[in-house]
Amino acid sequence: MENKNYNSIQALLLSSKSMSFVFTILIIASLPLIYLFVYQTGGIKYVFSHTMYIPIIFSGIFWGFKGGGFIGIVGGLLLGPLMPIDTITGEKQLFINWFYRTIYFFIVGTTVGVFSDFLKDYIKKMHYVSTHNNETGLYNIVSLYMDKKITAFLNKNTKINVVSISWINIDEIINNFGMKICFSVIKELNERMKKIFTEERFIFIHSDISKYYALIECDQPRLCLNQIDRLISEPFLINNIPFYAEFAVGLAEYDKSDSELTPFQKANMATLYAKKSGMSTSIFNDNNITITKNNLILLGEFPAAIQNKQTILYYQPKIDLQTKKTIGMEALIRWNHPEKGMICPADFIPLVEESNLIHPLTDFVLNQSLYKLHEFNSKGYYPTISVNISPKNILNPGFLDRVAFILEQYDVKKECIEFEITESSLMFNPEKVNLILRSFKNHNIKLSIDDFGTGYSSLSYLSRFPIDIIKLDQFFIRQLSLMKGTYYIVESAINLAHNLGLKIIAEGIEDEATEKMLIEMGCDMGQGFLYSKPLNDQDINSWIEKNN
Ligand code: C2E
Ligand code: CA
Ligand code: CA
Repeated sequence: MENKNYNSIQALLLSSKSMSFVFTILIIASLPLIYLFVYQTGGIKYVFSHTMYIPIIFSGIFWGFKGGGFIGIVGGLLLGPLMPIDTITGEKQLFINWFYRTIYFFIVGTTVGVFSDFLKDYIKKMHYVSTHNNETGLYNIVSLYMDKKITAFLNKNTKINVVSISWINIDEIINNFGMKICFSVIKELNERMKKIFTEERFIFIHSDISKYYALIECDQPRLCLNQIDRLISEPFLINNIPFYAEFAVGLAEYDKSDSELTPFQKANMATLYAKKSGMSTSIFNDNNITITKNNLILLGEFPAAIQNKQTILYYQPKIDLQTKKTIGMEALIRWNHPEKGMICPADFIPLVEESNLIHPLTDFVLNQSLYKLHEFNSKGYYPTISVNISPKNILNPGFLDRVAFILEQYDVKKECIEFEITESSLMFNPEKVNLILRSFKNHNIKLSIDDFGTGYSSLSYLSRFPIDIIKLDQFFIRQLSLMKGTYYIVESAINLAHNLGLKIIAEGIEDEATEKMLIEMGCDMGQGFLYSKPLNDQDINSWIEKNN
């Protein structure tokens, strides 16, 4: 929303105020002037007495029924007993003459006033309908342009902030309980905020079903945001049923200066940032814009990058800690961007994983890995190649069929394929995921739990799902020689894996001291910079030849 719009509305509102003042003066001043005019032009018998209709009609328009009637009577009296029929002869009017004229004036004034009152009332209702939400009676987004109260609020000389509130789990609530409940929650949200900020310092705007703005007068945005966070975290009690509504809230200062983005866009960006980073609140800062913009551009370039072979696979060896032989490798994607150079996965995988582009990416990695495996197998090497599978892949309806189809395309030893999946993948829909994992097992694919220890605390899934390997997260391995507590955690994880009949691999091994400890604890396999960084296609070939 343009600041300029507000300024012009403000100017219009101000001018309508000063205009009505000018009209009041004009109408009142016109009465004695018309009296003098009629007197000077010869008295009531001439046509000029009709000039009095002008202030009567205008007062009806401006002041309605009462104002029109009143000025009608005043005008009638002014041209009544004091006004002669003829100024020169001084002939007086009959009572009946000026009395009837006064009644006509009164009727004209009140009739115009009634129409004017009706029209004003109608316009007022139309204004209300267009500036308020039908269901909640709260201001809607149009009110930002059209409502005097909001315009005045935004033009206060205090620090105003725009808060953008997005209701995250609204679809679930609508699907299960209907829309009406949502309107009650929104009204309750407004009431809660009103209690904290008071009516003078706060305006709530119900933009659409899942999006609201609050304009708040507040000197300390962080403090206000924390207050909002607290009040939205409380469940909403509607018809005695407690509803847990989850919101993301962003705040931006209402900046009156001309800038590329309006305060509302900035507040929305902060909300989006909060959502994406898993926080409930966030304050806008300029970094958000560049990150979001760059990310969107990068994501836009990604489909062509796969097509144009800018995405390439690197392979990081996995080592048997007893024999020190290479038993396999993890396929890790890289993006060789024509302008930005080599982009590492951390800078694009999280974006791709949020979008549906993760599916072509995983298909690409699987195809490439199988191609590579075929190359190894035909030379008589049988290393395992691990492919990272995203949570979104697993629940994608076509994924299983696509995996089966891709596997059929390559003449490879299927036991040499391993899928690395994170704990979170297992938790979304455990029953369904279990079935899918079992289908992978039917294809002889090995399954390993990636980043083990960083996700869920419940370990019961280890026995429920058909897992072969636990991959201990780098976080523990890097701290191994530094903290005794970590040592015990890693030792327990290794014992747990072995007791369940699973293999365990430690990733992120960077030094010999760590390797030694892991060997002592009985860890089966290792991966890390101590052995090798991820290698390109040629280098992994030489590595395998050297290590076999
Ligand atoms: P990840 O699956 O945990 O992969 C291991 C990451 O740790 C790799 O980073 C690897 O280079 C790095 N690493 C291995 N050993 C060491 C070490 O000793 N020290 C240190 N500091 N780092 C080590 P990379 O290649 O940057 O990948 C990062 C993440 O991106 C991966 O974490 C994975 O989650 C994701 N990723 C990479 N390739 C793919 C892919 O093809 N598909 C999917 N879905 N995700 C991928
Ligand atoms: Ca991995
Ligand atoms: Ca990992």
